[in-house]
Amino acid sequence: MNERSEKGKLIVITGPSGVGKSSIVSEVRRRTDAEFSVSATTRKPRPGERDEVDYYFIDRDTFGRMVDAGEMLEWAEVFGQCYGTPAAPVLEAVSGGKKVILEIDVQGGVQVARKVPDATFILIAPPNMTELKDRLTGRGSETQQQIDKRLGEAENELRIARESGVYTHEIINDDLETAIQKVVVAINQE
Ligand code: 5GP
Repeated sequence: MNERSEKGKLIVITGPSGVGKSSIVSEVRRRTDAEFSVSATTRKPRPGERDEVDYYFIDRDTFGRMVDAGEMLEWAEVFGQCYGTPAAPVLEAVSGGKKVILEIDVQGGVQVARKVPDATFILIAPPNMTELKDRLTGRGSETQQQIDKRLGEAENELRIARESGVYTHEIINDDLETAIQKVVVAINQE
């Protein structure tokens, strides 16, 4: 029996806000047997989001306690809110032979690389910044001020991601279907 094919795998998918990560990840989940890690966050649910499905929506005290107890595989503050990956369910699933996807920010991915260096690290990048600006504006969920802030953050995130050397797969989302297929290939590859 090929032992490698029995081994689970951790897959980190990151990229700046508005790049299309969520659309890519939800389709990738449909096309592969990978599970999705539900993160904890201190931000409030958006309309339609469900507790324990989209996120574990928790308060700052609870979040802080989980961090202090070493229960987070990684965590980061993004746009003033805390986000983190509860470690136990992810590590159990991977050691049980499952593929698990983390959709997290760039810095969180870099933390994962220190703890789980053999994970697969995928950076989703926009074709260019103008395209990203159009997407953020079209989404209509942020104010102009928030959009400008997110664009600045996006440039920063892309630079940090590239300089970290962690993200060995960089996939440009200029066509959604092509990007999805490339992510599926990267997941099934190693
Ligand atoms: P949103 O509030 O739009 O759902 O997410 C904002 C950002 O937080 C996104 O870039 C998302 O990938 C990131 N994020 C979501 N969950 C986690 C997590 O568990 N850890 C880290 N580091 N980032 C996360």
